Amino acid sequence: MCQEENFQTLQACLSDTQGDGKHTDSQTGPKEDFPHRAGVVVGAGGSRSRTPLELKDIFIAVKTTRKYHKSRLDLLFQTWVSKAKEQTFIFTDGEDQELRRRAGANVVNTNCSAAHTRQALCCKMSVEYDKFIESQRKWFCHMDDDNYVIVPSLLKLLSSFQHTQDVYLGRPSLDHPIEAAERVKSDGSVSVKFWFATGGAGFCISRGLALKMSPWASLGNFISTAEKIRLPDDCTIGYIIEALLEVTLTHTHLFHSHLENLQRLPTDTVLEQVTLSYGGFENRRNVVSIGGAFSLVEDPSRFKTVHCLLYPETDWCPSKAHH
Ligand code: UDP
Ligand code: MN
Repeated sequence: MCQEENFQTLQACLSDTQGDGKHTDSQTGPKEDFPHRAGVVVGAGGSRSRTPLELKDIFIAVKTTRKYHKSRLDLLFQTWVSKAKEQTFIFTDGEDQELRRRAGANVVNTNCSAAHTRQALCCKMSVEYDKFIESQRKWFCHMDDDNYVIVPSLLKLLSSFQHTQDVYLGRPSLDHPIEAAERVKSDGSVSVKFWFATGGAGFCISRGLALKMSPWASLGNFISTAEKIRLPDDCTIGYIIEALLEVTLTHTHLFHSHLENLQRLPTDTVLEQVTLSYGGFENRRNVVSIGGAFSLVEDPSRFKTVHCLLYPETDWCPSKAHH
């Protein structure tokens, strides 16, 4: 994703891939998130008695590709997707009858190329955006296929914001804003700085904000915006929101990608997070540190272990009492 012509971006991407926990935010617990949030939301909303957010109000998009249907998606269906079946939509690039049987209309074949290029990934994001707009739901959340979504935590987090306001929630992968040549509003001779939420940790956008993104994001416009600024999909989302719409990213530490050192997440806070991820089992394993039902061999990603701690009644989770 980082083979960009935009030099500053390249630098930013490179510093991003170290994954060594140097990021200033990697240890912060959930209680430190948004200390002023309640005041802002209540003050801006004007009403304390709004209808509670329900799972059906959320549109969760999972980006995947044909070759990961077995190795990554199966695990998601077995675990968290089973708790959010109706709201989870799989965006892929190849027909798969088994997946179709399993998820029916919740599988979207984007007809985007299966290459791991900026164009192919932006093509998928563009379809995700259009499907969300069509869905009429209140929140758009984008996930990668190596994310575990702790559904109750996601619902709780989004409940503290209003979907009618401009909300862009996620985890910056850098400790500084990215800088890119401005080629949408001007000729590229000036640069813009903006924050973006790293796609690999998942991010959410309120419907109110998503609607405002439409001139640069809907019906193929997303692809041309990304091409103009020559940035990957998640950076382009940040560019549209922060640089063009002047809405700021709400930084959260509750979303996690495998760019950070996941081992450093305190064990007793793992179940309170909103998203988790896993990376690099081949060489240097990067997974959350949590013990429980399954060994590292049985559950290398730790997703089954997390799932059984959250939902011990699940039929394939070992029951505490032996019969
Ligand atoms: N992906 C994709 N097309 C590809 C390769 C990857 O859509 O050709 C998706 C993949 O399914 C995942 C996301 O892009 O949701 C990130 O891929 P991956 O985790 O392999 O890479 P990294 O996290 O290292 O960028
Ligand atoms: Mn990944």
